Parts: sequence; structure tokens; C-alpha cells
Amino acid sequence: MNAIEPRKIRLIMELRQQGIHDTRVLAAVERVPRDVFVLSTFLDQAYDNTALPIERGQTISQPYVVAFMTQALALADRSLRVLEVGTGSGYQAAVLAQLVRRVFSVERFKSLQRQAEENFRRAKVHNVVTRHGDGYEGWAHQAPFDRIMVTAAAEDVPEALKEQLADGGLLIVPVGRDGGHQRLVRIQRVGQEFVEEDLLPVRFVPMLFGLAPEGEACSGR
Ligand code: SAH
Repeated sequence: MNAIEPRKIRLIMELRQQGIHDTRVLAAVERVPRDVFVLSTFLDQAYDNTALPIERGQTISQPYVVAFMTQALALADRSLRVLEVGTGSGYQAAVLAQLVRRVFSVERFKSLQRQAEENFRRAKVHNVVTRHGDGYEGWAHQAPFDRIMVTAAAEDVPEALKEQLADGGLLIVPVGRDGGHQRLVRIQRVGQEFVEEDLLPVRFVPMLFGLAPEGEACSGR
């Protein structure tokens, strides 16, 4: 692909116009080479402000949604412990990794986890740790987390994720049915209370239960 820079600058300007005002988030998006995380077929669209298909019928999120969710996570301190559920291409994790020392990310497809690891190497992102697992169970061994971001839509907020949230921590999760009305919800833990806030209507692939069977075919998306 020729001339990535002008496309990147145009994308950053668009994100600003759409209300992304956190300069650290804009700088993080600017630093991550999204072209590394998209399929080669979509290379010419790598810096378009759109979601794109990846392997296994999944998607790499729209840059605006990535930036919005990252901003909403309020990553003011590099020492915050962050968990992402739904590694996918690894792009969102790579953006988070610019803002904190270490990111933990769980993916139910082994093949996507492997590809994401390869993408991190190519993008020179060295502070994301991935796990092949079911995000509904979180990552108990590494809990508690100050921030948790789910990048697939759950019908209900997963209980284990609430439990693995540190006091004062934030959880961002798209809630709603597959293909139906989904809303991005931010939950703050205050002791044993969970204060919920609606942020944005969104459209994500579904958060599915259990590990994906090896060799599972595309779901037809
Ligand atoms: N954050 C990704 C978005 C990928 S799409 C990116 O930036 O590219 C959502 C991802 O969530 C898919 O890869 C899907 O396989 C994964 N997923 C869905 N349900 C899951 C679950 N229960 N546990 C872990 N990952 C899950």
C-alpha cells in the first residue's frame, strides 16, 4: 500500500471531529500500524474508519469505536491492569498497549490467538499477553483488573468479569443480542455495588460460550 501517512492523518482528523478528544488515545491510534492487523485483501482500507472482516467470521472493530472505548476506559495511569476479552486481530489490544505497561487478552479461537501474536510481533508490540480461553470466565489467575474491555456483544454482563474487577475499576461491554440493538455499557465497581451507564449504540459480533472447536468453520458472517 502506498502512502500510509496521509491516510493515517486523515483518520486521526476524523476521530477528532467525531469527538475523540483524549490526545493520548489519538497518539496511541497514530502509533499502531492498523495495516498489520487487517487481512491482506483489505490492505487498501486499513486506515478507513470502518470495521473489516478478519478470519473465522470475526471483525476488526471500526477505529472510531476502538478510540471511543479506549477513551471511555480512562487510562490515566500506566500501571493500571487491563484485561481485554476478544483478542481477534489484536488491534484493540495493541492500542491499549500504548497506554499501559501490560495488557491481558483472551480469545476463544486458537487460530485467531496465534495470528494476533504474529501481528503483535510484526507491529513491534511486546506488552500484550494472550490466552486461549473463554472470556466469560475472565482470567482469574491475573485478577483483579482495574479495567476490563469486552469487544464482543454479551446478552448479559458476564458475572465473572464483574467479580474480577478491582474496587473503583471500570468494565466496558457491549450488551445486546446478535444483530439486534446493542448498547455499549460502562460499569464502575464501588465496593460490592456496580454503577451502570449507557454510552453508545454499537454493533459487535456475539460473545459466544466456551472455546471454539479446532477447525470450526466460519459462522457464515
Ligand atoms: N478486539 C478485536 C475485535 C475482534 S471481534 C480486534 O481489535 O480485532 C470479537 C472477538 O471476540 C472475536 O475474535 C471472537 O472470537 C471473540 N470472542 C467471542 N466470544 C468470546 C469469548 N467467550 N471469549 C473470548 N473471546 C471471544
